[in-house]
Amino acid sequence: MTRRNPRKVLFVEVGLLAVSGALAAALAARLLERGVGTAVVAAVVCCTLTVGLSLAAQFDQGMRTTLYTCPVSGCAVSVRVRGASPEALCRLRALATDHSRHGAT
Ligand SMILES: [Zn+2]
Repeated sequence: MTRRNPRKVLFVEVGLLAVSGALAAALAARLLERGVGTAVVAAVVCCTLTVGLSLAAQFDQGMRTTLYTCPVSGCAVSVRVRGASPEALCRLRALATDHSRHGAT
């Protein structure tokens, strides 16, 4: 079982937000240089920041979710776990990865 470092996850999320903020600022500057209207610039900045927030949220959810799949070929059993205790993680991992516990005889 791998435990993810919450600080590393937060660091990457902040990095994604910083990159989207820098991109939004650069786009705004370029558009304003070319005389694009303020409403359009505001829309582009909002969209860019929204994409950055969405990416950070997706990353956060992905990093805080653990997926266990059955190793038996053809078995479609998988368990996606989030926010569980270490004991629950071990129990669910054993249930998902031991085909005899969930598969046919
Ligand atoms: Zn299985």
